Amino acid sequence: MPSFADIAFPTAVRRCFTYRIPDQLKCGMDDSSEISVSAGSVRPGMRVWVPLKNQMAIGMVVRTHQETPDFETKDIIRTLDSRPVLSDELLKLAEWVHRFYYSSLGEAIQAALPAGMNFIAEPRVRMAPNVHKPPSRGIEREIFDFLNDLSGDTDISLNEISRQWQKKGERAIDRLAKKGLIEIWQIPKVRMKPQMETVWSWKVAPEEIKELESSSPPKWIRGLQVLAELPLPATRVEILAQPGITPYVWKRIRDSGYVTSKEVPSDQAASALPHEPDSISSLNEEQASVYEPVREAIEAEEYKRFLLYGVTGSGKTEIYIHALRDTLARGRGGLILVPEIALTPQTVRRFYRIFGDQIAVLHSRLSERERFDAWSSLQKGEKTIAIGARSAVFAPVRNPGLIIIDEEHDSSYKQEDPAPRYHARETAIMRARFNDAVIMTGSATPSLVSLNAAATDKCRMLKLESRHALAELPDVTVLDLKQYRSAMRGPLAVPLFLAVEEALAKKEQIILLHNRRGFSTFIQCEDCGQVLECPHCSVSLTHHRSRRHLRCHYCGYSRLMPRQCPSCDSESIGELGMGTQRVEDELREVLPDARILRMDQDTTSGKNAHDNILQKFGRGDADILMGTQIVAKGLDFPNVTVVGVINSDTELAFPSYRSAERMYQLLSQVAGRSGRGSKPGKVFLQTLMPDHSALRFARSHDFPGFARQEMMSRKNLDYPPYSRLAKVFFRSADPQMVARVAETFTGILAGLLHNGTVMGPSPSAIERMNNIYSWEAHIKLHPEKGGQFIERVFDRAFEAYDKEKPASSGKVRITVNVDTMH
Ligand code: ADP
Ligand code: ZN
Ligand code: ZN
Repeated sequence: MPSFADIAFPTAVRRCFTYRIPDQLKCGMDDSSEISVSAGSVRPGMRVWVPLKNQMAIGMVVRTHQETPDFETKDIIRTLDSRPVLSDELLKLAEWVHRFYYSSLGEAIQAALPAGMNFIAEPRVRMAPNVHKPPSRGIEREIFDFLNDLSGDTDISLNEISRQWQKKGERAIDRLAKKGLIEIWQIPKVRMKPQMETVWSWKVAPEEIKELESSSPPKWIRGLQVLAELPLPATRVEILAQPGITPYVWKRIRDSGYVTSKEVPSDQAASALPHEPDSISSLNEEQASVYEPVREAIEAEEYKRFLLYGVTGSGKTEIYIHALRDTLARGRGGLILVPEIALTPQTVRRFYRIFGDQIAVLHSRLSERERFDAWSSLQKGEKTIAIGARSAVFAPVRNPGLIIIDEEHDSSYKQEDPAPRYHARETAIMRARFNDAVIMTGSATPSLVSLNAAATDKCRMLKLESRHALAELPDVTVLDLKQYRSAMRGPLAVPLFLAVEEALAKKEQIILLHNRRGFSTFIQCEDCGQVLECPHCSVSLTHHRSRRHLRCHYCGYSRLMPRQCPSCDSESIGELGMGTQRVEDELREVLPDARILRMDQDTTSGKNAHDNILQKFGRGDADILMGTQIVAKGLDFPNVTVVGVINSDTELAFPSYRSAERMYQLLSQVAGRSGRGSKPGKVFLQTLMPDHSALRFARSHDFPGFARQEMMSRKNLDYPPYSRLAKVFFRSADPQMVARVAETFTGILAGLLHNGTVMGPSPSAIERMNNIYSWEAHIKLHPEKGGQFIERVFDRAFEAYDKEKPASSGKVRITVNVDTMH
């Protein structure tokens, strides 16, 4: 009885394909290490080579079974792996992502694999064996001869052929493959063999070397004696670093037969972080009582979800550390997610100090090789804790017993593009369920989604109300820029300027945030601060300059650009805001003696640039740290006493139902950077809208108050967490066709779902980018609906669309983004 395997490919095609597993097949990636395995050893989670169209493509086995399909199947040619590279647990998680976020299974699987093991691969071309009759003429003949001239069974990348013969070459390759004259194989870009390194050790006992003493030994004997002092084995580089060992001497030593070499896997540390051991602090009274239920859940080894809500500096990280220790003590692994490793070096370092060699850091700036090594150390169980950003939710930690998500409200946890458009927090919750693990998400400003989960008993809220060791929350002053129009010192209103001067005089430090997010395409009134919003959706309207009108990119409402502010009749309305560089220049002008460090996209592109800037600031080598949102995250500098936000409103300009939530989070986060040591801190928020709820509540650190009010307005408009928002995105180079397709598809969705749940379509906030036009529609789904519902709705919609779609609509790309944050 033959058996079959369902195979997923890393393309947007949602379904899997079934292949037959032959009784015997080859295993391994290169021809030199040929091992044959039997059909039974082909298991889910292994990569295989299978014929797909006219290529030998790499796919992933997701299921094996005995159900003979009613169509003819092709055979699997070869397995690439001798053991599954994806565990059943992670495969199941990928399947959940595939349904819930409506990606293809292959895309979800790919997200779960490290970059180095990407099963997207490079196609390579080679001669088919036993070809007797070459093509007669033309490009086909040219390419054929070219391949024929390559020695043996050498292959060449398809790219190279395209480079030489252009489009015509690609078509010729297609024809050659169809005729069976050549073969196209996909090869993984990075092989998963560990990196090898040559090390040298003694072939004789080192004592014998010492006995070689003579009155005037030749240089190479002296070299040998130097070597005898070294701990061997050592690499060539290490050996040549020794005094007196020149390349020539080294050659003599090698020829002498005293040393021997062997290949070992180079155990490059996955992280450049130094391990400075530190012990675990004991929890203070409040922390200890908050931790107790977490400890119990860890002991019980059951799924349990906690939301740790505590102001910055209250000791959330200390609690994570205790939870991790207790999880490890039970022999289970831990997973820590942080918004971005590069932005949170201090947090990472704290975990590293305690758990050092048990941690694998999955850092987006590691090389593929390093990332792969970190990943395999977890898979082999050499490391038990993974720490990383969004994609680390798929880290192959064995038997995970605890998942921690720090700054759980952060929008970087949502992948917007490309697919799979998953949210790491929601995915982590599923992973915890699958593993009977404890999940703890923490924040000073939890997402409304998590607050709602706590309110409906889906998770338990734990509160830390005070800062550790009596550090006080800083005083917040809101500066209404309208009142200070004639009292500005550069970009700073006078009260903030004076506070900065005072801090400089006392040798204290200052952080200034110049928020650059958002589009410069929103319209604000300079006199009353009003941002023009959609009357139906309460999101800011986007200014489409070319058409001189304003448009809501949720529902499509549009109006002409008004001449006057609708609320105060002032004529000073328009696009406001200035660039970071200009702010910095003006700042230097009014504070000529201050040492200013700038941190933004431009100054942090190098591998450790971000960390270097922070270390410099931490050492006191600068007085003012100025930058974009990134200065708001996770920094702990006790000498910072003044924090200023130069423009608090720009977050509101972001056309999203979440902009107020984002603004509050940003302001409270940046405020938390002030007064972390023993000196009290001050915070100044400059704004044109002093009465906005985010500012009113930020002034008194009243997050619960803000959350209550925001929750109410979400409820009124049926926004998340009271619904689940999915965005359908349409893209094409053809502006008419994209609009037509958007109308057709949205109409189909409206027919499938109830009234009022489908909004749009409308042009996107950025309607045209690189000559690609985008439209979008938004759908509100019931928040309790899961992946099966989502899959059914969109499967049906696409099915219907295939029948109704306008002619030549093929070039319009339609993508689905469930739980979009925009
Ligand atoms: P959060 O993660 O909530 O911002 P942290 O865990 O970073 O708070 O704590 C803020 C500061 O207080 C840190 O410097 C931390 O080392 C210190 N701290 C917190 N709790 C304790 C404790 N129980 N013992 C010693 N130091 C603590
Ligand atoms: Zn106005
Ligand atoms: Zn609207």
